[in-house]
Amino acid sequence: MNKACHITVSGLVQGVGFRPFVYRIANKHNLSGWVRNTNESVEIFIQGQQNSIENFLTEMRSDPPAASHIEKVLLSYTEPVELQGFMITRSENTSDKITEVSPDIAVCNDCLEDMHLQPNRINYPFINCTNCGPRFTIINDLPYDRQNTTMKPFPMCDSCRREYEDVNDRRFHAQPVACSDCGPHYTLITKNHRTEGIDLIVSTVAGLIMNDGIIAVKGLGGYFLACDATNDDAVTRLRFLKNREGKPLAVMFHDIDTIRQYAEVSDAEEHSLLSWKRPVVLLQANHKNLLAPGICVGLNTIGAMLPYQPFHHLLFNELKIPAIVLTSGNISDEPILIDDQNAIDTFLPKTDGVLVYNREIENRADDSVVRIINNTERVLRRSRGFAPAPVTLNLDTGGILATGAELVNTFCIGKGKQAILSQYIGDIQNVETISFYEEALAKFQKLFRMTPSVVAADLHPDYFTSRFAENQGRSLKLIKVQHHHAHIASCMAEHGLDEPVLGVALDGTGFGTDGNTWGAEFLYCDLADFTRETHFDYIPLPGGDRGIEEPWRMAVAYLFKIFGKDITHLEIPFLEKIGQEKVDVIVKMIRSGINCPLVSSSGRLFDAVSAILDLCLYSTFSAEAPMRLESIIEPDCSESYPFTLGETVNFDLTITNIMEDLRKNIDPGIISAKFHNTIISVIIEVIHRMKIRHSCNKVVLSGGTFQNKYLLERTEMELLKKGFMVYSHHLVPTNDGGISLGQLAVAAKRKQSGLHF
Ligand code: ZN
Ligand code: ZN
Ligand code: FE
Repeated sequence: MNKACHITVSGLVQGVGFRPFVYRIANKHNLSGWVRNTNESVEIFIQGQQNSIENFLTEMRSDPPAASHIEKVLLSYTEPVELQGFMITRSENTSDKITEVSPDIAVCNDCLEDMHLQPNRINYPFINCTNCGPRFTIINDLPYDRQNTTMKPFPMCDSCRREYEDVNDRRFHAQPVACSDCGPHYTLITKNHRTEGIDLIVSTVAGLIMNDGIIAVKGLGGYFLACDATNDDAVTRLRFLKNREGKPLAVMFHDIDTIRQYAEVSDAEEHSLLSWKRPVVLLQANHKNLLAPGICVGLNTIGAMLPYQPFHHLLFNELKIPAIVLTSGNISDEPILIDDQNAIDTFLPKTDGVLVYNREIENRADDSVVRIINNTERVLRRSRGFAPAPVTLNLDTGGILATGAELVNTFCIGKGKQAILSQYIGDIQNVETISFYEEALAKFQKLFRMTPSVVAADLHPDYFTSRFAENQGRSLKLIKVQHHHAHIASCMAEHGLDEPVLGVALDGTGFGTDGNTWGAEFLYCDLADFTRETHFDYIPLPGGDRGIEEPWRMAVAYLFKIFGKDITHLEIPFLEKIGQEKVDVIVKMIRSGINCPLVSSSGRLFDAVSAILDLCLYSTFSAEAPMRLESIIEPDCSESYPFTLGETVNFDLTITNIMEDLRKNIDPGIISAKFHNTIISVIIEVIHRMKIRHSCNKVVLSGGTFQNKYLLERTEMELLKKGFMVYSHHLVPTNDGGISLGQLAVAAKRKQSGLHF
């Protein structure tokens, strides 16, 4: 007796080989029927023996394609119909709902093998299959079919078409399927020559890199700059070329064993390095780190990744060096370049060659960055391999656009219960990034069929994203969300929390409801609203933004608060370096209160301590001073400094004791550890008080300061030991890259409850 079953599968099921997989297991279990993509899901109809249907369902759930992620399966049994065999039917453009667009997937091992075996794909660098290859970076519309990607100009040859149409082939319905006869190809452009042919290109590029050269390489989501990671001259030149003063550079290694020669790699770190997402993983450098000093700039971490495009593998086969720098091809803070002519104009005069290929990049995507903290992958920059996979919430987010913050921006759109974050946009501080923001938003609205009716934005009056939200027109409901409330809400949204929690938001800067700059906030909050329970003491930030760029100013502010004019008699190296005159100017500014906004920022406190220890007086990239402070921690030290907990948190005693330790010539690594331990104690103590006041046991940690591995690891462990439930970020950045998700969640909650709406 035959049964029939109608199945709807939602989740990450398009562009990841799900339909062919369904086809194969249907045939295996002798079921007839069909499978098709719709805009909202994958729809399956199967009929056959009851136990075959059950076996089919078990196999579908337990062994789906590597890059897929099944979120929900709906099934209903119906009457069998007249039907022969199993078919993959045409995509249906049925509704304005969407199914998930797959992120890009690193080339798979089967394809790497095919590069040696298939005559039309020997060393073919655009090889892919249903399990791997470009996705988000080439798609411009749904459903995910070849004509809606930038593969459209490349008609399949007969051989590729046969594979595409053969259900038993690994390339069955692989939309970007291609071979050397029909697909895209690379061209290497040097100052007076164009090189064609992949073998010659690879050997030429490898030769140039091994001989001090710098090459601009078109990657999946944009152009990258590559050079020998063991060659200090090349690295210095590359840094100069990018106009990028201090930031550490990402490094691509030959393989995982090579990475182990340079850095410690835990199981969780290995897992992230080898995952199909292939992010940059921040690893602890080991003592014999032999990379060019200009890469890690004195920090104890290496941003390491493994080859993910076929070209990377071909290149490393030729290279006789262990690693290359592979960093975003942009100038200063502008977005990564994606346009070929622009890249040639920009990079050809300054490099030894530009490697282009003749397929357009539809969606720009930088390399993503993760860090393993407490054995869990934390996404610090969410782009290639991650975007645009959604975060599923317990709230209806439909029609909400959240515009994000100002630095390391992402935006977020709501679709049903899904929050779809954009790729990493960057610091919105120049016209190029603003255009990227506007373009990406237009593309997301088209791709995900989304027209906003509500727009959520930061409280800051001067952020581009706030003004952008205000200019969206009167028909849109505007919801303003305080920055640190958004941080906590972002982490809550990730964990499906919708109840009062104890929030700890530690970061650099966010506009407060009192007009001051907040940044170390203890909030009793739910998704809709918050109360500020306490915060670090306000302290003047001499010179506003200059005070952020020059951490020594913050050190002077703290020391002046404690020692008054006696600060001039303090004998510490950093003050001597800065010089009496400059210190006096800052003291005058503080006294008169001119251009000294009040801040309660954790980032600025870390800046001050870093400067007092003479680790970083002038910051050449964001969060440099806190990173240098973290970098020198002596991990075996469990001591801490005293602090005062009144209405607010006061660090006068902490700073005084740091000065005392400095005078005693205590090792800076010990001082740094003691300082970090102090912050952990502050969190524990404040949270303990809040717990008593509110009978609440759930602690949510967010904000850029929690990118600090030592701090987050130990804060989590201490809170767990005390019996708290602890929530921190995994899926979206704890820095301002996660703010848009929080704004979206707050807006959704207020909309649902009618509060402030
Ligand atoms: Zn493959
Ligand atoms: Zn072909
Ligand atoms: Fe922030």
